[in-house]
Amino acid sequence: MTRTLLRCVAGGTAVLGLSIGLGAGAAFAAGGFAQVDGKRLISASKEPGSWMTRGGSYYETYFSPLDKINVNNVSKLGLAWHGDFDTDRGQQATPLFIDGVLYTSTSWSKVYAYDAATGKELWRYDPKVPGSIAKSVCCDVVNRGVAAWNGKIFVGTLDGRLVALDAKTGKEVWSQVTVDQSKPYTITGQPRAFNGKVIIGNSGSEYGVRGYVTAYDAETGKPAWRFFITPNPNNQPDGAASDRIHRELGYSTWGDGAWKQTGGGGTAWDAIVYDPDFNQVIIGTGNANPWSWKSRSGNKGDNLFVGSMLALDADTGDYRWHYQETPGDDWDYTSVQPIILTELSINGAKRKVALHAPKNGFFYVVDRQNGKLLSAEKFATVNWASGVDLETGRPVVYEQARYGVTGGDFLAIPGPFGAHNWHPMAFSPKTNLVYIPVQNIPFGYSDDGTFKYTAGHGNWNLAITSAQNGGPGDEPERKIQAMRTEGHLLAWDPVRQTAAWRVNHGGVASAGVLATGGNLVFQGTPDGKLVAYRADNGQKVWSWQGHDAIIAGAMSYMLKGEQYIAVLAGFGGSNALHVPFINAKVGTHGRILVFKLDGKATLPSNTKPVLNAVVAPDTFTDAQVKKGGELYGNCVFCHGFGLHTNNMLPDLRRSPIATSKDAFADVVLKGSRENKGMPKWGDQLTADDAEALRAFIQSRAKLLKRDLEAESKVSRN
Ligand code: CA
Repeated sequence: MTRTLLRCVAGGTAVLGLSIGLGAGAAFAAGGFAQVDGKRLISASKEPGSWMTRGGSYYETYFSPLDKINVNNVSKLGLAWHGDFDTDRGQQATPLFIDGVLYTSTSWSKVYAYDAATGKELWRYDPKVPGSIAKSVCCDVVNRGVAAWNGKIFVGTLDGRLVALDAKTGKEVWSQVTVDQSKPYTITGQPRAFNGKVIIGNSGSEYGVRGYVTAYDAETGKPAWRFFITPNPNNQPDGAASDRIHRELGYSTWGDGAWKQTGGGGTAWDAIVYDPDFNQVIIGTGNANPWSWKSRSGNKGDNLFVGSMLALDADTGDYRWHYQETPGDDWDYTSVQPIILTELSINGAKRKVALHAPKNGFFYVVDRQNGKLLSAEKFATVNWASGVDLETGRPVVYEQARYGVTGGDFLAIPGPFGAHNWHPMAFSPKTNLVYIPVQNIPFGYSDDGTFKYTAGHGNWNLAITSAQNGGPGDEPERKIQAMRTEGHLLAWDPVRQTAAWRVNHGGVASAGVLATGGNLVFQGTPDGKLVAYRADNGQKVWSWQGHDAIIAGAMSYMLKGEQYIAVLAGFGGSNALHVPFINAKVGTHGRILVFKLDGKATLPSNTKPVLNAVVAPDTFTDAQVKKGGELYGNCVFCHGFGLHTNNMLPDLRRSPIATSKDAFADVVLKGSRENKGMPKWGDQLTADDAEALRAFIQSRAKLLKRDLEAESKVSRN
């Protein structure tokens, strides 16, 4: 292993200057902090005790070869230490471990560094993201992790910056705004670093933005190249690496429709994998916008490059190949889900492949030299397509799934939550199995033909919002009850394309997965457990109970001969916000939890109690309630379908604020809770609108109170 000395380049100079006199950590990071470069990252298998990039190596397998903790002694695994964050939203990042230090991001794009042996906090960084940005976020104010390169830690911030931090001090080295901040772009994804560059994508396909990825010089922050996922709607060059291929191939795959106003979506908000074998980046691209193919593109064209795996030259951003998993997306089937790179023996030949289990429910094995589809099978319940034609590589879509063509409704499974979402899956080269957090969550789609583009708003599909946000009366509640769903951990043989074993979780319990050389698979649960299963047969061999949901992917590291398992706790994300009836423990703040054999640390409880329904004595008219139910479409992404929030964000039916006209107006119109992520709506809603919203909330609070009283009677009897 080589540890290059800090080079005196822009940014690096500052690191050298500050290193003098900083004793903290010198003992465990004698060679410097986060001194990773391409050579070290490509040779990650030579230092199995480190975890220097997303998924443990450039191959992003979420497999740690460490086996000191194994099936024979895992029963002795206990808490070694924990660290408390100052954020109370979803935690989706997996920490990095480099030279004795753990680095992680948290919700609100904050970053923490810890002494990995003791848990001592070394520094924390707050990019001071404005709380109002929460208005442009579909699925919580989360962040999925940091990247490291040459003494720097990189984080993408929710308001669209890419920031380089000094790995030793947490101080900003450079910061670049990577998006047009006048548009509803956000960043929740993890940067990746390679060849002296750092790359970041963005989010916002639900709101009407045009997705792209940008590579920057890791030392200076100077832009290197950019690739737009969708063509320029005016059929003009952008002066970007994507110009040529969109002229030759992309633009002609789009019909006439609302995409010319929204930009078509396709945002790359999670998987961006550097493939060192071919010096390319493989990008998982997002869903199209608006969701309805008819509204977006007149039911015409494949709409490149949404819903695809897209390979670009790592040095220039030039197009290499693509494989589109969902042509003409109608269902929010993003392909951003984690991509694993490996080599498999297929029909006697070794193939360098990409493994992918995107939202649409098919497991794909693709040759990463040329993008050729090798196999695709359903890994979950799927009713939008019967299969994938291996000759053409195209899905065989059922006619009724095209709701914009039939003019009817379509109850799809999977829906927009995906058969698999952002939760990391893992691949063990010991068992040759992929471990996938699977979820079966149905969703109804329709296109009522009324789509109208509104700048800066949720431009997805209005028909869905009104049908499922829970209007007055019991009918919407029944629809919400129907969203009760199922999840499981699936061990999948990627060569045979069949299940090896599965563990049913009952309700939705998706959480990231880590596989280890100790024949173990670790996965958290929303009700606060971390569980270990045997990797070969799925037998549960260890379980630990905490106080807060664990949904992030775990990692493992070795320090002074001791193996550790680290994972973040903190409930949030799209499932937490939008899927009712998850049996979750919700903490008052997020945490990092670190385990070792014979760990004896204790953990103080931080579980947030579930409040009772509160009803004001005020009376409202039916017209107010109806209007409020319609306006609630603006609130549904954060405050839940039918106001069910799984206790993660304030359940408005249980909120004392909603019983006071003045306090409610202060929050909704004037932004008195903007620093908590509740934006101010005074420029879009009137005082009458706010009162109508309160009328709707109170009507739902009354129903909840009635139901809770009935339940308590039953339990008393
Ligand atoms: Ca989406």
